[in-house]
Amino acid sequence: MQGSSQTLTDIEVQALIAEALPNDIGITSVTGLSPGASTDAETHDVHFSVSCQCGASFLFGVEVSIDKTAEDMAAVMPTVVRELVNPAVSFQAKTCEEHMMMRMGPTAD
Ligand SMILES: [Zn+2]
Repeated sequence: MQGSSQTLTDIEVQALIAEALPNDIGITSVTGLSPGASTDAETHDVHFSVSCQCGASFLFGVEVSIDKTAEDMAAVMPTVVRELVNPAVSFQAKTCEEHMMMRMGPTAD
């Protein structure tokens, strides 16, 4: 029996994660950040972003070992989802003043 032991492409990994993410958080898949860089990488580097109506956005990602199968992904998915939801939620919990500061980078006191 083979078939369930096939490894995944970046796009498949990203699609699986995107499907598992809760819809109401507003996390968007970001693709094409590192085109061509993943040919001999050891991890799938998938990125997501959240944004606010004030125009601020926050980019974050997760690395998934290149030899993970769809079954492996299903097993670690709760952890992956938590890793992505946490920063998204904390971004959204910030005020737009704080978002503005993030956009401008760290400021001296
Ligand atoms: Zn904002």
